[in-house]
Amino acid sequence: MTSQAPSTPTLRQIMDGIEQLWPASLAETWDAVGLVAGRPEQPINRIIWVVDPTLEVVEDAIERGADLIIAHHPLMLKPVNGVSALTSKGRVVHRLIESQCALLTAHTNGDSAVGGVSDVLADILGLVDCEPLTRAANGLPEEGIGRVGRLESTTTLGDFAGKVYGILPKVAGGVRVSGPRDAMVSRVAICGGAGDSLFDAVRAANADVYVTADLRHHPALEAKEATLDGRPYLVDVSHFASEWMWLPAAAQSLINFAEDSGWEVDILVSSVNSDPWDFCLNG
Ligand SMILES: [Zn+2]
Repeated sequence: MTSQAPSTPTLRQIMDGIEQLWPASLAETWDAVGLVAGRPEQPINRIIWVVDPTLEVVEDAIERGADLIIAHHPLMLKPVNGVSALTSKGRVVHRLIESQCALLTAHTNGDSAVGGVSDVLADILGLVDCEPLTRAANGLPEEGIGRVGRLESTTTLGDFAGKVYGILPKVAGGVRVSGPRDAMVSRVAICGGAGDSLFDAVRAANADVYVTADLRHHPALEAKEATLDGRPYLVDVSHFASEWMWLPAAAQSLINFAEDSGWEVDILVSSVNSDPWDFCLNG
């Protein structure tokens, strides 16, 4: 703790803090993390964490007085030739600059870190003895994408899926499950966001069940056919919901960092649902 009176941090100081908590070196090579808009010397009074920097989410954050939005997903993952207000992403850039609100991205560096997206999910689901599904190329052994661990007590797939459903923000698509409802599960693999590229790692980790988002027909069916006993069973959740779970934990990490640094800054979490689906016809 510092003994000095709290002071308003600059964007540059916040960026240095983010780098310590979620180093850019942990990001995947294809990713685009770091500062998207904003002047490093601008003072920051209120930070709001969001999953997606859509116009609706950004407008809500601006209305709540944010002068920095920290988004999990990049606004512009692919290079662009302009940011005119003729495009949706350009309109977001204009609203940010007009409102003197900065935007910063913590994406796969936030996934990979200890206390990252999958780590938080694993913790909330009560997994123990966790390790990454794939180790970070430039990180510690405990850093990397996804997590695998075990439940403290074996449970049925149905009850486990019910627990997953109970902890996630409510979205139109709910939670889909592949596997017998009464099958017993203990070893759990998790990847917040789209995790269908990790099936080999999930099988190698001997997981009974895999929780991830955006599972498509062919990868899911092939995963089901790949083993004789049908494991890993699949729990398919909302991409948005699985990653929103990280926001309160990430915000708390930054609040702790701000307190230790003697910063006076509000750090909040967006409650705007940016899941793209609005309703579901089922049964
Ligand atoms: Zn994502």
